[in-house]
Amino acid sequence: MHHDHDHDSAATAVDPVCGMTVDPATAAATREHDGVTFFFCSLGCAKAFDADPHRYGHPTA
Ligand SMILES: [Zn+2]
Ligand SMILES: [Zn+2]
Repeated sequence: MHHDHDHDSAATAVDPVCGMTVDPATAAATREHDGVTFFFCSLGCAKAFDADPHRYGHPTA
């Protein structure tokens, strides 16, 4: 029984700015908004979030 992949799908998050899948353990930056923690692939994405958190923090609102 061999599995070629070893990713843990339960330990991933989505960068709300660029939509990229981010591993919370290695995320470049994190932000907390309305009690929700967001993970970012880069500081640039985190800065974009800082500039307008509601735009990204509430994508369906
Ligand atoms: Zn990003
Ligand atoms: Zn909010």
